[in-house]
Amino acid sequence: MIVLKIGGSEGINYDYIADDVAALVTEGQPLIVIHGGSALTNKVAAQLGHPPQFVTSVSGFSSRRTDRRTLEIFEMVYCGQVNKGLVEKLQQRGVNAVGLSGIDGRIWEGPRKDAIKIIDKGRKRVIRDDYTGKVEKVNAALLQTLLEAGTLPVLTPPAISYDGEAINVDGDRAAAATAAAFRAEALVVLSNVPGLLEKFPDESSLIRHIPPAKIDQFMAVAEDRMKKKVMGAQEALAQGIGRVIFADGRVKQSVRRALAGEGTVIGDQQIVNCER
Ligand code: ADP
Repeated sequence: MIVLKIGGSEGINYDYIADDVAALVTEGQPLIVIHGGSALTNKVAAQLGHPPQFVTSVSGFSSRRTDRRTLEIFEMVYCGQVNKGLVEKLQQRGVNAVGLSGIDGRIWEGPRKDAIKIIDKGRKRVIRDDYTGKVEKVNAALLQTLLEAGTLPVLTPPAISYDGEAINVDGDRAAAATAAAFRAEALVVLSNVPGLLEKFPDESSLIRHIPPAKIDQFMAVAEDRMKKKVMGAQEALAQGIGRVIFADGRVKQSVRRALAGEGTVIGDQQIVNCER
């Protein structure tokens, strides 16, 4: 099993990715697709008069402030335009994709944070009406049923809390949990950069390989949003996934190239076969 996470930042080429996914599916490669939608959400939120806000947690991670209105806009974009757009592209290429959010069938379940502690202008502040949380449980049985029916699951946040509320979760970490539930041989994370860059944004400073024992050292290289990807990779490896590959989602055959070792490979250095 290969779990593919497609980022939501500007520049990612969904047509190229759909071409590559369709080819892999035709070859019989078991696959689950997960996607983001952050750039478009920011745009739509601004157009709707509810511009995005990002908060920094006391531990230094940046995340989207998700009040009820933001959650609604988030669902419109992620579960609406981005999810259905990707499913349409795959259907056009002969792949029977099924688009679902983590709420559907409780595919991604976990606790909602009752409070988030943030740093606001240098001071600590607590926010209580935020709809965010994390994925602890994956409904692998439902995903397995979809796979056995010959369909390709295309998943997106939000997830669902234990109390049944929609919660915004980090897509990379949800992808890591999904890959762990399937003991996937690889988690491929496509974004608008070639991988983890030693000197961001210098693309020639790509870090080719990170041995699992050295992930902590590389955390310092990653800034804001990249930090969560590195953390997701660490969680994925800790849960028994073969390797995590950060690769470029702007180019043709991005998934195949990632599996052949292009990008940043986190894990033991060995090329993943495009097979079961
Ligand atoms: P996506 O939405 O595509 O999943 P994110 O925007 O969350 O991706 O994360 C990728 C972004 O992380 C890059 O576009 C880049 O701006 C940022 N970034 C920060 N530090 C680094 C780094 N060291 N190497 C690569 N990208 C980095």
